[in-house]
Amino acid sequence: MQSTRSEDCLIFYAFTPENIKLRQVYNSLSDFMKNKQITDPSDRFNLIVFHKDGPNYLDHFTFDSDYILKTLKSMSKDLSKANIAGGIFIAITFIIEVYKKISEKIFRLLILVDDGAYEIPDAYLPPLQELIKVVKDMPFFIDTILIGSPYSDQAQKLLKLTNLCNGELFGINNIKDLNPTLTGLSEKKYISEPTFVKQRLRKILPDNQPFYINLADTPEPLSEITTCSICFQKDNHGIVKCPSCDNPAHEVCWAQWAEIANIGIRHVFRCHNCFNILKLDKRFVIDVQTGKIPTIAEMQKVEKKNIVDYLHELEAKIKPKIVQTDDPMALEIKAMMETKKAEPKKEIQKRRASVKICPNCSKIMMGDRKNCPSCGYVLF
Ligand SMILES: [Zn+2]
Ligand SMILES: [Zn+2]
Ligand SMILES: [Zn+2]
Repeated sequence: MQSTRSEDCLIFYAFTPENIKLRQVYNSLSDFMKNKQITDPSDRFNLIVFHKDGPNYLDHFTFDSDYILKTLKSMSKDLSKANIAGGIFIAITFIIEVYKKISEKIFRLLILVDDGAYEIPDAYLPPLQELIKVVKDMPFFIDTILIGSPYSDQAQKLLKLTNLCNGELFGINNIKDLNPTLTGLSEKKYISEPTFVKQRLRKILPDNQPFYINLADTPEPLSEITTCSICFQKDNHGIVKCPSCDNPAHEVCWAQWAEIANIGIRHVFRCHNCFNILKLDKRFVIDVQTGKIPTIAEMQKVEKKNIVDYLHELEAKIKPKIVQTDDPMALEIKAMMETKKAEPKKEIQKRRASVKICPNCSKIMMGDRKNCPSCGYVLF
């Protein structure tokens, strides 16, 4: 079985401004997005670029491909040399945030790069590989179009990363080949799925389960009399609310709902109102689902919401805004450049770069932090 789910495509525009001008790729990019939406109008897009002030991206994926082009154009004067490692890190961190809130998407990172971008430092290759192994279950993959030699160190490193997640690397010699390559990529991505998907079971591999469990929010208890949004009974006992949308429901009702809405781990599921990932105690969920804990009432027919309608509703309210961030991997690049300049013959000092995943909330961050910047958890 192959998957043809709706896609959220994050375009990492890493062409070096001195080598390739935006107007040379503008139409190809426009065609790429238009073609994709003809095949599947539910596909959305986002953008990462390195600007003179640092990396930039939009805070939401958008259905509006013209908006992506407009944003790119508005930044085209101040584009700068891209740090591929930093861009991939930012892309994955952003995609995890999106995955936490919405379901039924494939996430594609499309890297457009030439020989001029900063090479991925050796020290950052292993942590990037580790990250990709964790997020590829979403599913997530990387496709890369590289204008330049497919035998360079950079190309070999990118190939390692794309291979890890069923992506592809296309080496092309000339900007003229960009259009046909993008046209090929605008066709629906088929991902062959493992056997458990054939059996209509979603599953997250055991090694990666802690990451997805920690990503989930625990519903918050409510003590006042509230109407459960699943069984519609009023109650002041055993009712909790989704921390993302405040929607209340009985824990037992949500435990039942988890049977059809889990993400591939039995007690981790999506809220029926806002798609945010929630978790309940594993033993409790199993006991409810196997009838050991009685349910309060018959579940009303809570229908699975249509994710595409929901996303259109969200986008109608607010247009995505440009987020400017710091390059998390800039230090290593600087060190690499200085070593090269100062002492070209001296062996580059072996550094260890580490990426940490918060064991409490699954926030991804660069090493050397004592507290999680998201939840404050003490890391060591
Ligand atoms: Zn209920
Ligand atoms: Zn919710
Ligand atoms: Zn945390």
